[in-house]
Amino acid sequence: MSFSSDCKEELCRVVSDKPCDRLMELSALYMTLGALSLLGLGQVSVQFTVESPAIARRIFVLLQKETQILAQLHYVTHARFGGRRKCVLTIGPKQAPRLLERLGIMEKNEEGALALRATVPRLTLSRDCCRRAFLRGALLGCGTLSNPEHGYHLEFAARDEALRLGIAKCLQSLNVPVKQIKRRDVVSLYVKQSDHISDILTAAGAHRAVTTLESMRVRKQVLGSVNRAMNCDNANLQKQMDANQRQLRLIARLMESDRFTALSPALQAIARARAEAPDLSLEELGKTLTPPIGKSGVNHRMRRLLRFAAEELGEQETAP
Ligand SMILES: [Zn+2]
Repeated sequence: MSFSSDCKEELCRVVSDKPCDRLMELSALYMTLGALSLLGLGQVSVQFTVESPAIARRIFVLLQKETQILAQLHYVTHARFGGRRKCVLTIGPKQAPRLLERLGIMEKNEEGALALRATVPRLTLSRDCCRRAFLRGALLGCGTLSNPEHGYHLEFAARDEALRLGIAKCLQSLNVPVKQIKRRDVVSLYVKQSDHISDILTAAGAHRAVTTLESMRVRKQVLGSVNRAMNCDNANLQKQMDANQRQLRLIARLMESDRFTALSPALQAIARARAEAPDLSLEELGKTLTPPIGKSGVNHRMRRLLRFAAEELGEQETAP
């Protein structure tokens, strides 16, 4: 299961107690997944076409609780859906007007008969609870989330402007900035920052998804700092190895030259010891000498040796 579908499954289990919220969620679901069919003789029906059975069940329950309508469920497999099976909920001509009136799509005219509105109803979304419910419906209906392991991206493929305005209004109240992108003829709203995605999911009620998102973010941060530390260690190690190589080359050249014998016996001894054991630390090198000397003693002799070698051989060389 993808992160996106996990999150939707969780949203489908959010308890929605208030009628205002159920209606708002239903509005968003209708705007994203619903369709109105004209049957002739002034009759209409409504269909919700849904990919996941969990969302179909959610819509079924919301319809039943909010409008006492029992939708009919059937499955279709169509090339238009890439051969995937889809759930279709149908609300027939007897009940469809009741739903459409509740959603503000139909209204009673002066004669008291139900008629379709000429314009799209404006969503008020003035209450916090209603905005959360609308976001939940929009996420279920047209939202996609990328797997947080690969990056942060939440997108609403909003097929019409009223839906976009509704989503934008909800996001604005959460202080989440949103961007738009046009893909073919659908304008999508998207959010790319993980803390903003967390805010949206929290508002909609997907708390488990937020926990997953947050722990992934922490893991990425820790991995990032471990990698930076390792790169830094590797760079230091490389620098150390380069310095050792330069010293070894210098000592080798000095030992081959006739100037080697001009060195004091102590410096000759340290040069020989280093040439024989290139990998030893200064401390370990000191222990191989007779008599043994400490680290600072080795360091001191090594500096003198290298300064002498650099002068005699005309090379610029740094001390260890
Ligand atoms: Zn409400």
